[in-house]
Amino acid sequence: MAPAPPRPALPAPVVAPVTPEARLAYVLRHFRLAYEQVPAVTIGYPAAQPAITVTNGAGGFFDRPAPYPPAPNFREWGGQSVPFFFDAHPKAALLELREDQATINADVIAASFYLLSGWQEYFSEARDQHGRFPYAASVQRQYGFVALPVVNHYFDVLKTAVEHVTGRPLRPRRWAGQPFAAFITHDIDNLHGGWATAVRHALRRGRLTRAATLLVARVRSQPAPWNNLEHVQAETARFGAPSTFFILADNRPAPYGPANADYTADAPAFLNRLATLAATGAEIAGHGSYGTAENPGRLREERKRLQPLGPAGNRFHYLCWEPTRTPETLALAGVTYDSTLGFAEHFGFRNSYCQPFFPFDFPRGRAHSFLEIPLNVMDVTLHHPSYLRLRPEEIMPALRPVLAEIARFGGVATVLWHNANFDPANEATGPRQFDELMRELRQRGAAFLTGTQIVRHLCE
Ligand SMILES: [Zn+2]
Repeated sequence: MAPAPPRPALPAPVVAPVTPEARLAYVLRHFRLAYEQVPAVTIGYPAAQPAITVTNGAGGFFDRPAPYPPAPNFREWGGQSVPFFFDAHPKAALLELREDQATINADVIAASFYLLSGWQEYFSEARDQHGRFPYAASVQRQYGFVALPVVNHYFDVLKTAVEHVTGRPLRPRRWAGQPFAAFITHDIDNLHGGWATAVRHALRRGRLTRAATLLVARVRSQPAPWNNLEHVQAETARFGAPSTFFILADNRPAPYGPANADYTADAPAFLNRLATLAATGAEIAGHGSYGTAENPGRLREERKRLQPLGPAGNRFHYLCWEPTRTPETLALAGVTYDSTLGFAEHFGFRNSYCQPFFPFDFPRGRAHSFLEIPLNVMDVTLHHPSYLRLRPEEIMPALRPVLAEIARFGGVATVLWHNANFDPANEATGPRQFDELMRELRQRGAAFLTGTQIVRHLCE
C-alpha cells in the first residue's frame, strides 16, 4: 500500500445558524419517537411559556463553529452519574415540579442537540489515518461516558416532566412486542481467506489430520474457511435472529487506501447465492467501499451492482465517515438507512443515543430523511491490538452495562460480527464470544430484526 499523500485541509463547514427553534424541533421529534404515544404537551424555553420549561443554558454556543462546549456538570439521575452539558444552574434542582407545570434547570434540549447532531465531529478538524473522527478527540472520551446513552437519560428527565404535567405514564417504544431490538450484522470484506489461521490453529492443537485436510482443500481450490455466509446465517438463526449482510461491491483496492472486497459482488453466481440467503430471512445491504463515504456517484454505482437484491441499507468499509460530507453523500445515493456510526476504538454510543435517529443536515438546519441505526459493538474493537485488547472473559462484563442501558430505554443493540470471526480458529473474538453475546441478548428479551424491519417499526 503506497503511503497516502497528506489529506487536504477540510473546507470550512457550511452552516446556517442553527436556531433554537430548529434545535428544539430536531430534539422533540426524536423524543416523540422514543416513547409510545407522547401526549400533546408544550415543551420549550421560557419565552414560549410552555407547560414544561427548559432553562436556556447554551448562551451563544451554537452561533459559533466551536466543537466543544464547557465541561458538563455531573448530576445523579436514575441511579447513574450523568453529565449535563449547558447546565447553567448546577446548584439548582434538576427538576422542579409544580401543579400542571415543570421546569428543567439544565438545558437538556441544547445538550441533546449537541450530542445527537454530532456537532463536535462536524466542527472539529481532528481526523485519523482513515479520515475518521477519532474517539480520542471526543467528549465521550474526555468525560468518560461512551458507554452511557446520555441523550436517553436527558429524555428520561423530559419524560418525568411530561408524566407529571399530563398525569399519564409514558412507556419506552417496544419492538415487535419486545422491550428492545437487536440488529445482528456482518460486514463481508473477505471470502477467500482464512487458510493460514485455520491450519495454524489445527497444528497448535495437535490436530494433524485436520491440518492436512485443510491443505488438501486449499490445493483443490475448495471454498476457503471464510467463505461461510450460509454458516454465519445458520449460527445467527440458532437464536431466532436474521442476519443482515453488508456486501462490498468493489474489489479494486482504493488509491492510497486499504483493500476492498476479495470477491466479485456482481458475479451472477454470487448474486444468486445472496438471493438464496435473502429468501431465507437474511437482509442484503451495501458496504460502501473505501472512499465512497465522500463520493455519492461511486456509492450509487456500487449499490446498482447489488440492485437485483434492492439493498436499503449501508455501512461504510472501515467505518469511514466524514461528518461534513457523508450525510449528504448518503442522501444523494438514496440510502434508506445507514449503520456506520460507532467508534471503531470503543463500544458504546457515538452520538450518546441508543435508538435509530435521523442525522442532522447542518447546511439546511433540519433532519435528513434517511435513518441512522448506530453501531454499538464491533468484534474488531474488542480485541484488536490498536483498540481494546480485551481478554475473552472480559468481553461480556464490559458489554453487559451497555446492553442493560439499551434494554432499559427500548433501544436497538447493533452488533457487527465479521464472517471471518465465525471461524473457530479465532478464540479471542470468534464464534464462542458471539455465542455468549447472542445468549445475553436473547435472555434480556431482544426482538431480533433486520435493518429494514427496524426502519419499518420506527417509521410506520
Ligand atoms: Zn469492511
